[in-house]
This record gives sequence, C-alpha cells and structure tokens, in this order.
Amino acid sequence: MAQSDKSRVLILFCGGTIIMKEGPDGGLKAPSRKEAVATLKAIEDRLSTIADFDIHFVENIDSSNMRPTDWDNILAAIEQNYDRYDGFVVTHGTDTMAYTAAALSLAIKNLGKPVVLTGSQIPGSRLETDARRNLVNAMKLATMDVSGVFVVFDERVILGSRASKASESRLDAFVSINAQDAGEIRADIHLNQSLPRRRFDKAAFFPGFDPDIAVQTLTPGCDPEDLVFLLQNKRTRGIIILAYGTGNLPYDFDIFFKRAREERIPVVVTSQCLHGITRMKGYDVGLRALKLGAIEGHDQSLEMLAVKLMWALKHYQYKDIATVMQTNFAGELSIPTRPPA
Ligand code: ASP
Repeated sequence: MAQSDKSRVLILFCGGTIIMKEGPDGGLKAPSRKEAVATLKAIEDRLSTIADFDIHFVENIDSSNMRPTDWDNILAAIEQNYDRYDGFVVTHGTDTMAYTAAALSLAIKNLGKPVVLTGSQIPGSRLETDARRNLVNAMKLATMDVSGVFVVFDERVILGSRASKASESRLDAFVSINAQDAGEIRADIHLNQSLPRRRFDKAAFFPGFDPDIAVQTLTPGCDPEDLVFLLQNKRTRGIIILAYGTGNLPYDFDIFFKRAREERIPVVVTSQCLHGITRMKGYDVGLRALKLGAIEGHDQSLEMLAVKLMWALKHYQYKDIATVMQTNFAGELSIPTRPPA
C-alpha cells in the first residue's frame, strides 16, 4: 500500500443488496464474486478522495444466510488488519446487519477506531440507488475522530449496539432502539459529542457465539408446555421470551421457569412492545418470573439480546450468564452495571 497522508480504510465485503442483481426468476441475488466486487467499486469511483482503501473479501451472500461463524470471520479480518488501517467499513445486507453490528460491538474490547456497517435498500447498480450516499458516508465516518461500531444508513449514524432494521423498504431503514442516534447526516456528518474519540489502546478480540438459542413470542393462551419442550430437546442452550408490556408473563409459566432453572438453561425476558423497556418488578406477574430466575432484558434490543446470549453461552458459565446479560459492554444497556469477573 502506498504511503500517503490520507486515512486508510479497509472495506470488508460481505454481500447484500448493495451488490445484488436480478436472477433468472426475478429475485435479487449475489452475482459472481468478481462481478459483485466490481459492482461495489462502480458505485462511486471517487471513494479514494476520502481515503486510501483496500477491499477484503469476507462473503458474498444475502445476509439472511449470515451465520455466527461469518461474524467470527469479520472479526478475524479486523484483528489481522487492525494496525494497518484507520477505520473499517463493512458492506453488508440489511436484513441481519443489526445482528452483525451487535456481534462486533460485543466481541471487540478497547476498540479505538471506527467500524462502520452499511448497505443499501436498492441495488447499487440501479439509477435510484441509495448505495452511493450510504457508502460515501460510511467511508467518511471511518476516517473521523471517533471509535466504536456504527451503522450508517440514510441520514442516521446509529450505535451498532442499538441498531435495528425497522423498515423493509424505506431508505431510512434503521433506527436506534431505546437510545438517541449517535449522529446525524446532513450536508456533513454531525456526531454526538459524547462518543469516544480515537485512541491507541490495544484492541482485544473475543470471537465465538453459540447459535443454539430460541426466541419465543408470547400470545394469549400460549401453552407453557411448548416452552418446556424446548428445555427437553438437549440442544437449546438459552431462551429469550418476548413477554408483554414491562416483561409480564402469565402465572402458569412458573412451571417453565422452574424447569429451566433445573436444566440450567438461562431465560431472558424482554418486551414485545415496539418501544419496550422491561420493568419486571412493576407487576406481580413479572416479579414472580424474576424470582424464579428470569433474566431481565431492560432496554436492550432483541438483536442485541440474541447475540449477547449466544456470546455469553460461548464464553461464560451458566452461573455468570445473568450478570453478563445485564452488563453494559458497548452502550447497549443504560442501567448501571458491574462487569462480570
Ligand atoms: N436480503 C438482503 C440482505 O440482507 C436485503 C438487503 O441487503 O437490503 O442481504
């Protein structure tokens, strides 16, 4: 790589609509790797005026096909190239971008540079695409004096640990869950002043996620035995329940919580409300589940809770999972917490 005063950015290529083309049956799909990378490069041929950049190929897939092992591959690429670049841009499908953002947020400790995920709702080769502005803004953010994992989309800069895809087709597709955006994109990028600056700490990487979790939504009259069944399949290692309101569950779920404790399977309770924050001591129905071992999700997004549970199951013992789930690692949780030992 030639020496220059310009910032250096590594683009981690993962696929997504941004590089997709219509297949023979009309559905969008990733073309060959060569064509996909060429499509990304063609979105804007002046990107190098923002930063000297290289492209590192990770995957070329619809992000519905992303697996936790792909998150590990992205982490490995960042770790191997950490000292050579000033920032990282991850081009990614929008469908599971928020999960990848959560995974990167948790698994990098002392991150002293920006890692920016972006993509588009409309393929990059189409006239009306949103890819160009998203990619340009992600590149710009990757050179700025800020550190952390972010999603850049449309006019928003969102903390990676709070991102959620809220619309399947709006260009303004992502929102911050239970938090303010980290910044706003107008003519320039305006970042929240409280964000951490760049720093020269040695970043530490903790990849590894156990995908064997189940997420269940409560509906009135649902049978707790259906969840007891999950405890018996010898595969499910953690469960998330989308309960009502502030984290309320019917009394007949007692049996499920007791069994989960016996089987040493952590159960996290979050709210199914669109803007839900749990407060399980607020009603007797929630309090009872808490007393039986339910782990309260507080204001964390579902994406974060799912990824955090996978990460906790891989790195910690059963007795520590509740503490890990209720520890703030990357801005995902606003209650005061003590880090796990
Ligand atoms: N299905 C696509 C993906 O997640 C959607 C997108 O990129 O917008 O890869």
